[in-house]
Amino acid sequence: MRVLIIEDEVRLAENIAEVLRESGGYAVDIVFDGEEGLYMAESNPYDLILLDLMLPRMDGITVLQKLRGGDMDVPVLVLTARDEKEMIVTVLNAGADDYVTKPFDLGELLARAKALIRRGKGQRSPVLRVGDIEINTADHSVRRAGTLVSLLGMEYRVLEYMAHRPNTVVSKTELLEHLYDFNWERFSNVIEVYISGLRRKLDEGGSEKLIQTLRGQGYMIKR
Ligand code: CA
Repeated sequence: MRVLIIEDEVRLAENIAEVLRESGGYAVDIVFDGEEGLYMAESNPYDLILLDLMLPRMDGITVLQKLRGGDMDVPVLVLTARDEKEMIVTVLNAGADDYVTKPFDLGELLARAKALIRRGKGQRSPVLRVGDIEINTADHSVRRAGTLVSLLGMEYRVLEYMAHRPNTVVSKTELLEHLYDFNWERFSNVIEVYISGLRRKLDEGGSEKLIQTLRGQGYMIKR
């Protein structure tokens, strides 16, 4: 999953990014003004946007209105300052999905971010199930037929992304765009490595193959 942070307080933005990367396992991009935020949000497929309100060049409400006016349905979590309480109704009416008031607990922010990403994919429960595979998005544990399977961080991310889209062909490009941030060099053969790791670990002892390859199109997990 890939998150965009639009926040001009550099330290805060970097602290949030660290938690999202380290504890959430997300790819994270940071921008420090509203105009660039809008541009990034419109040109990359984010799974969540964290949006500050008081921003240089374009304020957060305007960014939000432009996103929603342009039919972007990416979940948006707004970061409000304590003296912006009267803005909350406006923020929610403009299409924000949730908000936190500064200063906030980073653990709480992460939990809210996870919940919004899940809901954005039409999933309320923290546990995803595909066949006999159970993916716990809260602690990133994976079980097949009840047995714990140990995955690399990136293998987990590929699996979680695909499990959110069962019975749908997911291309390598789509995986790269959702699993890597802007600064990362993207090579599609990296995805092949993780897919083969997942196959090796998950198909072992299972009767049915989990991930199907559709030549020239991508991969699919069948429910
Ligand atoms: Ca600000």
